[in-house]
Parts: sequence; C-alpha cells; structure tokens
Amino acid sequence: MRAAVITRLNSPWEFQQVADPVAGPGQVVVRIHACGMCFSDVLVHRGHWPVQLPIVAGHEPVGEVVQLGPGVTTLRVGDRVGVSWMQRGEGRCLQCQSGRPVRCEHTQTWMDLGGGYADLMLAWETGCTLLPEGLSYTDAAVAFCAGFTSMSGLRNADPKPGERVCVLGVGGLGHMAVQLATAIGLEVVVLTTSPDKADYAKQLGAVEGIVAGDDPGKALAEAGGADIILATTTSADLVAKVLSGLRYAGRLVTMGVTGPLKIDDMMTLLFKQCSIKGSTHNNRSDLVEVLTLMASGKVRPVVESYAMDEVNEVLKRVEAGQVRYRAVLQNG
Ligand SMILES: [Zn+2]
Ligand SMILES: [Zn+2]
Repeated sequence: MRAAVITRLNSPWEFQQVADPVAGPGQVVVRIHACGMCFSDVLVHRGHWPVQLPIVAGHEPVGEVVQLGPGVTTLRVGDRVGVSWMQRGEGRCLQCQSGRPVRCEHTQTWMDLGGGYADLMLAWETGCTLLPEGLSYTDAAVAFCAGFTSMSGLRNADPKPGERVCVLGVGGLGHMAVQLATAIGLEVVVLTTSPDKADYAKQLGAVEGIVAGDDPGKALAEAGGADIILATTTSADLVAKVLSGLRYAGRLVTMGVTGPLKIDDMMTLLFKQCSIKGSTHNNRSDLVEVLTLMASGKVRPVVESYAMDEVNEVLKRVEAGQVRYRAVLQNG
C-alpha cells in the first residue's frame, strides 16, 4: 500500500510503498477514504508527541472495513467506520475495569498501529465506530477528533439549559464546538483574535462574534459573559486572560493549550467560584452524539478538501492557521 510516512521530524512526509497491514486477533483493516488533519499532526511533525519513527500519522480516519482478524464479532466487511485516537485499553487497570478504556495509561492508539494517511489502516475492533447512513466520509472524518474533542469538552462542562457558552478560538475544534453547543439548545458567543472568524461566527450559529483585543475577559464580560468557556485555542495567554469573562460558578474547559497556563486573575476563580478543567476525547457516547447530530444535518463541518498527495501542503496550511475550518484529505 501507499502511505505518507514521517521519516524525520520537521521534514516533508514521504510517500512510500509499504507492506499491507494484516489484521491480528481483535483487529480489522480499514480502506481509508478520508482523513482529517488536526493541529496535533503538526505537533507530531515537530516532535512534541513521543512517537517512534518511521510512522504514519492521521487520527481522523474513516473508511471501509476490508478485513477482519480472528475473533472480531461486531464489525462486518464493508462496514463504514471511523477510528478513534484511543482504541483499546490493556483491560486490567482500574480505568479499564471501570469501563473507561480511553483513560487507560496503556491505551492503544494510531501511534502503535499506524494512522490514516495511507491506503489501508490497521485498527482495533474496539476503536472503530460505525458511521450513520447518509453521512459522507469527508464530514464524518471531522467527528473523530475535532468533533469528539469539542463534544467531550462541552459535556465535561456539564451544561445546564439556559446557560451561555463562549467558544474561544474558531478552528477545527471551535467551529464544531459552536455548532454542537447550539445544536443542544445553548446560546453561544464566539471570542476570536481573527475579525474574519468573528464575522463568520453567526453563520455557525453563534449569536455574536467578539474580536478579542488586549483584554478578552473584559470584552466577553461586556458582551454578557459566559457560564462556560470552551477554550479551543493553543494560546495559554488567551486562556488566562479570558477567565474574567466567566459568570458566577462558571467553568472554563481547555482542549488546546500545550504550554504553561499562568493565571494572574485568581480573584475571579475565588470570588466567582469558577473552575478550570482540561478535556480531550472522553466517553465514546460523545463521539456517537456528534455523528448523530451530523447525520441529522444539525451540525455541518466546514471542510477544505484535498487529495492525499497534498499532505505536505496541507500540513503547512494547518501549521500557519490558514485552514477554514478543517482540512480533510481524500483517498482515490
Ligand atoms: Zn486531533
Ligand atoms: Zn487499562
């Protein structure tokens, strides 16, 4: 099969012919139709993830099951599936025994089996989720990281009816977060550093798009504040500065920050009894909820579509923050 292989960090990915994967017990082989690209792929490219080279990245993969390993019982050849980042726990730790394999410290991922920028991908049966009928591969791909992360962040914030959500940063995650929060009946405002994204926010379902100036927390407070801030930006500085825009008992859920978070404004946390939480892919039910909302037409990813051959150009676009709002690579 043909695959885009990372052979060196910070270097273009190389298209190579590599051996076709063979499904072992509990595994399947998926013929990849589409695979979205995430900022995490840039972090892999830069060496921020502990991967062994050479490796094939790609953690928003969707396609068709073409081979079943021994003992696979829930999937059939021809099933349309996507593969999650975290596919299978080792089964015996407290988290696995509690039914939370995604929190297992030894969970199997694309880093163990190879990712989706290839013709074929090996996956654990338990890591595959069936795609609803009628949902395109291109749209479905976006559910597997951007959608999943955003929905888990939203659910982790424990939203109540009537609450107001601020989505901080509108990229792959943020543009999904706006739509997901709107789809479950919450009022959403967007806070972004890009005027074009603030303008676009209403088209995604937000009631207002706010351009973050020197004091994004004040800008949010003046626009009515928020009970929940879903921070999808990678800027720790922006996350720290937006806290003062939270209402009483507000929750900030961060999904994108990779650097240290320095909070000057502890008084907001103390007197408004606010909390800060981190979140990533959580319950698989969050992913299924995204796929269901997409299939019903309530949530529509905004996608730039590319051929798999363009993977290096797409990587540069993602790195430069130029994508509106998710790039999806297509096979065939
Ligand atoms: Zn991702
Ligand atoms: Zn475990």
